[in-house]
Amino acid sequence: MTEGYEEFSIFCETLDKVASTSSKNEKIEILSDHMRRIPKHLLPSTCRFILGIASTKGKLNVGWSLIVSALKEVTGLDEKKFRNLYLKFGDLGDVVEEALAGKGRYLSLKEERLTLPAVQSSFDSLAEIQGEKSVIYKRRILQGLLIQSSALEAKYLVKIILGDLRIGATEGIVLDSLAKTFNLSSIRDWYLILGNVGRLAEKLASGDMGAPSPEPFIPVAFMLPLPVQDVSEAYHHFAKQVFAEYKYDGIRLQAHIFDNKTKLFTRRMEDITGSFPEIASALSSMNMNAILDGEAVAAQGDIQLPFHKLQLRLHRRKVVKEILSEVPMKYFVFDILYANCRGLIDQKLSYRKIFLSNFSFPDIVRMAASIPVKSEEEIKNIFAKSLNLGYEGLVLKDPESVYTPGRRGGAWIKLKKEMETIDAVIVFAEWGNGKRAGLLSDYTFAVWDGDELKTIGKAYSGLTDEEIKDMTLRLKQLGIRETWNGIQVRPAIVLEVSFDSIQISNRHTSGFALRFPRIKRIREDKKPEDADTLDKVIRLYQLQVKK
Ligand code: AMP
Repeated sequence: MTEGYEEFSIFCETLDKVASTSSKNEKIEILSDHMRRIPKHLLPSTCRFILGIASTKGKLNVGWSLIVSALKEVTGLDEKKFRNLYLKFGDLGDVVEEALAGKGRYLSLKEERLTLPAVQSSFDSLAEIQGEKSVIYKRRILQGLLIQSSALEAKYLVKIILGDLRIGATEGIVLDSLAKTFNLSSIRDWYLILGNVGRLAEKLASGDMGAPSPEPFIPVAFMLPLPVQDVSEAYHHFAKQVFAEYKYDGIRLQAHIFDNKTKLFTRRMEDITGSFPEIASALSSMNMNAILDGEAVAAQGDIQLPFHKLQLRLHRRKVVKEILSEVPMKYFVFDILYANCRGLIDQKLSYRKIFLSNFSFPDIVRMAASIPVKSEEEIKNIFAKSLNLGYEGLVLKDPESVYTPGRRGGAWIKLKKEMETIDAVIVFAEWGNGKRAGLLSDYTFAVWDGDELKTIGKAYSGLTDEEIKDMTLRLKQLGIRETWNGIQVRPAIVLEVSFDSIQISNRHTSGFALRFPRIKRIREDKKPEDADTLDKVIRLYQLQVKK
């Protein structure tokens, strides 16, 4: 450990060094060198900040305009100067650095230098403040931070708050840096079990070097199915007896039930318990300690309700009584990752299924049907049945397989009927006209090409007026740059887009455009990194050309 490494400025200097090189290896070298020197208790915040995660207490809900108003207050910058700076740099963090540059710390009221724990505690406060006057309190905290920081520190404070450091340090790079620091080869598998880099850093910081097992109330990355085109491909993929399950059209939920308390997590690792209080309380009353994996669907009796009904449950702090009765739920459990004080992810699926069948679940929780099939004919029949019953298709699973968190490894496959859709990330939102004036209603979306997002289309149909209002609020929070017609946003929201066909196009950076795109739904369960890739688009384009 080296002297002074608690100071936020030293961390910022490291971040600047990381930004200054485009070499992945050099970035890892710089970060692991930093990690080796810091006192271990700083490791979790360090890793989270690098990834633009300001706090574990929740979202900060500090947007662009709040930062700009705090900056103007602290520096006396007027709107014109601010606009000029913004035009010059195009990045709020860089603007803040320039605005404070040369002023040294003469603005500082306090003598002491900003430390990493102090920054963490301010971020936690920003996340926790709620209520009517929250904007005032938040602005005060921001002003306090800006007053106390140097230009360089202020730049990174803002970048972390906005959730995007733009230093080219991805989750993979942070993991590789941790692996190098601690000389660990299995870090990626650990990461997927512990669900997030910050938690992994906490474990390493505590000196615990044993392989992890799922932990209470810490979501494990979800195992996912690989897509196949048709029944024949599904059959030949395994060519043996497998379990066929209906592909329910709802939301994937991982339920953590410990000491008569339950938390429900989405694929984005978000705690969504508040949206499904009756599922949580039914599970809590079961008197067991377990982690379950399954799909929650809106269902009236045994009839599935359309997906947009389920959406009424999401994004609410608390679900009101009317919605509870208008959108009744069923939770179909298909896996178990932990029970009887031990992890089960390294056990075979057939064993985990037996474990599951030992529980007697309350009515709202059902064990998902899992039907052994061994011929192409049997798969064909059960697939047809699933579509008749209104399900999305099938998920076929190898009974011998262990649970591999976060992987689409081929031990599970999915078979769907529909024309493929693209899951794309919103990167830019435009103000609407007429009835939609004042609302961000047109969304440019992008897919991954390696580490970069490339745009592939713009959609303005498919969402209800309510959803557009909701989106406008969310997108404003995500803004990183304003232009004359809209806002460039941090990649965070994934849309499932259906379309008529794919065309070659020079209007979009991907080189392709979706024709007649329509938003099928907002994929609340997907993180931006889960969006589709350009490779998939190219594959679909080639299939279309063949036809
Ligand atoms: P996709 O999002 O198209 O890649 O499909 C994977 C999703 O299907 C999972 O994340 C679940 O939300 C959903 N799903 C529905 N039924 C099942 C099932 N029986 N087993 C696994 N996943 C399922």
